[in-house]
Amino acid sequence: MLISVVVPFYDEEDVARPFYETLATSWATMQDRSLDWELVCVNDGSGDRTLDILLELHRRDPRVKVVDLSRNFNQQIAIKAGLDHAEGEAVIVMDADLQDPPEILDSLIAKWREGFEVVYAVRRARYGESWFKLLTSRLFYRFMRVMHVEIPLDTGEFRLLDRKVVRELCRMGERHRFMRGLSSWVGFRQIGIEFDRPERFAGKTKYPLKSMLRMTLDAVTGFSYQPLYLSTYLGFALALLALLGIGAVIVLRLTGINALAGQATTLVSVLLLGSVQLIFLGIIGAYLGRIYDEVKGRPLYIINRTWGWKLRDAAPPTASARAPDAGPPAE
Ligand code: UDP
Ligand code: MG
Repeated sequence: MLISVVVPFYDEEDVARPFYETLATSWATMQDRSLDWELVCVNDGSGDRTLDILLELHRRDPRVKVVDLSRNFNQQIAIKAGLDHAEGEAVIVMDADLQDPPEILDSLIAKWREGFEVVYAVRRARYGESWFKLLTSRLFYRFMRVMHVEIPLDTGEFRLLDRKVVRELCRMGERHRFMRGLSSWVGFRQIGIEFDRPERFAGKTKYPLKSMLRMTLDAVTGFSYQPLYLSTYLGFALALLALLGIGAVIVLRLTGINALAGQATTLVSVLLLGSVQLIFLGIIGAYLGRIYDEVKGRPLYIINRTWGWKLRDAAPPTASARAPDAGPPAE
């Protein structure tokens, strides 16, 4: 039986080789001897030597296969490209930086053997990450709860997916993907196992605040309507407040107390309402933009070339894009 390991690589020249070696070693010591493995590396538009290193690993070990994307898409899309190419009975998705330790693959596979279709790894402790990263990541999972996005707490992309689940994920063509949400959404029998998340082996995180915010937006808009409902709730609350205000003004007028004189109150309430409206225009815009992206129907990713699949491997684009030799023009 074949197990695929899908790994996105973005500027990971310092970790690609150690990752492969650790993976190969832990596979060699695996208890379950009946399993073969393949490593599907997706190069997500790296600007450094990552691709060269991956190709060198591919030449050395044919179990290593490489999908080279035409530019940097993002981790979620790179994983989708990997899933589309993986051929195993089960697929394990993990990060390249050894923060998802290959040593626990054994226990993921054991759970799969017990009959679970999704086995996700839950981070119990985390080492070597900044307090800011830890805080924002904690907030992220709690915020997801508030927004009614059903994902297990403190889990990354590190998980094992049965072929049944992979088939469904591959059918989902949505562009602003949030893999964790999708793999919960599909259902089946799911279970988590805990692990301690070590420090990044080398290099630095590819998730600055901006990318984290973008992913949070994708996760919320992809799985929840709460932000849209919020404007309705707030609208009702403000309308109630306004009604009370009207009552108060009438009473004050009739009793002859001139307590609300001046423009300040008018100005403040107009500013408040204006900003609330702008905020919700933005929220609607976030959904609208995503609808537009879906309607355009562009491909999720573009492949430059693949290595390791006999039938699929495309020739280098320069060769295939060129028209066949037509010979000299006829006279
Ligand atoms: N990654 C990717 N494309 C991107 C950003 C990240 O393929 O645009 C990969 C990266 O190479 C790594 C994984 O996604 O294998 C997780 O990234 P990282 O370790 O930087 O995230 P963190 O662990 O800091 O959340
Ligand atoms: Mg990492």
